[in-house]
Amino acid sequence: MSTIKNDLKLFNELAEVLLNEEQQNPVAERIEANQLYETIDLSLRDTAMVDDDFKSLLQDVLVSTPKTATSLFFNQLFGGRQPKAVLGDLLAVLLNNSMYTYKVAGPQVGIEQEIIRKSCNLIGYGSNSNGTFPTGGSMSNYMALVMGRDAKDPSCRFDGMRKPLIIYTSIESHYSNAKNASFAGIGRNNIRYIEVDSEGKMIPEKLEEQIKEDIKNGGIPTYVNATAGTTVLGAFDPIDKIADITEKYDIWLHVDGAYCGSVMFSEKYKHLIKGVERSNSFSYNAHKMLGTPLTCSILLVNDKKHLHNSFSNDASYLYQTDGDDFNLGKTSFQCGRRNDALKFWTLWKSIGTNGLEQIVDKQLELAKVAVDYIKNNPDYTLYSYDDSISVCFNYKDVDPVALCTALYENQETVVGFGSFNEDTFVRFVTINATNSKNDILNFFKVLENFVANTSVLKTTSALNT
Ligand SMILES: *Cc1c(COP(=O)(O)O)cnc(C)c1O
Repeated sequence: MSTIKNDLKLFNELAEVLLNEEQQNPVAERIEANQLYETIDLSLRDTAMVDDDFKSLLQDVLVSTPKTATSLFFNQLFGGRQPKAVLGDLLAVLLNNSMYTYKVAGPQVGIEQEIIRKSCNLIGYGSNSNGTFPTGGSMSNYMALVMGRDAKDPSCRFDGMRKPLIIYTSIESHYSNAKNASFAGIGRNNIRYIEVDSEGKMIPEKLEEQIKEDIKNGGIPTYVNATAGTTVLGAFDPIDKIADITEKYDIWLHVDGAYCGSVMFSEKYKHLIKGVERSNSFSYNAHKMLGTPLTCSILLVNDKKHLHNSFSNDASYLYQTDGDDFNLGKTSFQCGRRNDALKFWTLWKSIGTNGLEQIVDKQLELAKVAVDYIKNNPDYTLYSYDDSISVCFNYKDVDPVALCTALYENQETVVGFGSFNEDTFVRFVTINATNSKNDILNFFKVLENFVANTSVLKTTSALNT
């Protein structure tokens, strides 16, 4: 008989295996994608599996799954493991609430609302503000866009879109903007991609020019997406200057802070999102800079009536007690909704706002360690700018695409590449605040040793030059 207590015991054993494995092999033993099903038995069968076999299979799966919490993972805009946040997420799984009503979620509703309230205070939103926890940054952007659309054209919710609504974002912004335009009925062809300056920030003058031209042609400027931390360079669009324009033309301003909006917690770096209090909505991902498990995305709205206008729907079978302020399903996209708030709350509660600030500051310190190393070493070329945790570089004349792929295939370290204008480069992300200065320097050592000992890469670079 399987009981939850037995399985939790098994969980602890497996966790031990995984944590030891991470120590010994920070990069997972890679299984070739085209050999996956032959290498590991993932098949589902009619018959039950013997407990011992089950356990050893789970161990195999754990060991061969890419490891994102170790000191050699720099691939994406998340990494590391904040223990108190992991604790909170494990508890959320055990509790298994759904966040739509107070009746089913109880104090978890208050936990979510407290995070939202405190976040609104920190960015300077007033007493009418509120928010929700969407499934991620893409969904946060989507919900913001729908609110912006409905604010501009309230009849849209009932009749569908009949007016030529136009939306604006920089060419460096996240790709979800394009998908969302199509989902929202606005259409990909009605996005205007605004040029960026040499550091990857939206050029406000170009934005205004484009808006004027659209108005002249009968378009209705509806929504501007500004980015706080672009996906490749980690650039911050100038919010204050953009807000001057959105206020002048009465356009919804959303600030996509999925990547680096968490600088709001830092006295030293919050100037990067100066003017955010003038936006209509703002989102950030705690699973990126703050290191909670995926996903934990917070969408804040300056005036909560927009959340209600766009997302509430009466449902007598669901909302039976306690009133709208406690029935969060009235302002969410989904019906059943996972509790993403508890893991952030356990982290925040245990280390305080000061602790969150340290997490953010640490990443920028680590970025500086990397940038200094690169600047002091003539074998490297730097492509990124100050105040970014995306450190972009090339090493000697090694092709960055071949280099990143080879590092991954040889289980050396996991890092990705990116492009800006004509350049392609390695994008090294110092988002794991549990890393030390030595971990950063070790990455460069691993990379240099690998290049020195890998003949394939020499060939590649020779071909390129
Ligand atoms: C990561 C990211 C997103 C998407 O967030 P998900 O949670 O992955 O959907 C959106 N915008 C920016 C700037 C991002 O970095």
